[in-house]
Amino acid sequence: MLKILIFLVAGFLLYKMIMGDRGKKLADQKEKEKEVEESGEMVKDPVCGTYVSSDSGIRVKEGNQIYRFCSYECRDKFIQDRQNT
Ligand SMILES: [Zn+2]
Repeated sequence: MLKILIFLVAGFLLYKMIMGDRGKKLADQKEKEKEVEESGEMVKDPVCGTYVSSDSGIRVKEGNQIYRFCSYECRDKFIQDRQNT
């Protein structure tokens, strides 16, 4: 019986450790994304949220704004969405 209890406690601690670590990693990633955005070298794909290099060839110009995309699929989706509204 005691063995089971120890096993459960150990499992719980391990779970806490893994989840805590994951939360921290996610925060680090958020921070990194923010830095990337502020540096101006990378721009966010407005469709899927992926960061793409500001010299990406897949782009759409709309007025003064240039949107860049990670793939032609995203670009097409963006254009389609614009046409629907
Ligand atoms: Zn995309």
